Amino acid sequence: MKLASSEKQLRNIASECQEFEHIINAMGYGYSLLNVSPDAFVRRCSDCVNWFGGECIIYQDEIKKD
Ligand code: SF4
Repeated sequence: MKLASSEKQLRNIASECQEFEHIINAMGYGYSLLNVSPDAFVRRCSDCVNWFGGECIIYQDEIKKD
């Protein structure tokens, strides 16, 4: 079953995830288009290329641990 998520979870999981890649960066534009430095932008699962509307396997495993 797919579990729902809070903003806090999206950020916490992404902050520790080795596979995070921002959707805009993945398009090849680089982090400069995000208008923030790579260190400062908000890193959250829902902005990740692997998110797939919450289907990310890593994500699903992580929320089961909570
Ligand atoms: S969506 Fe998946 S791959 Fe992307 S940061 Fe979250 S857990 Fe990691």
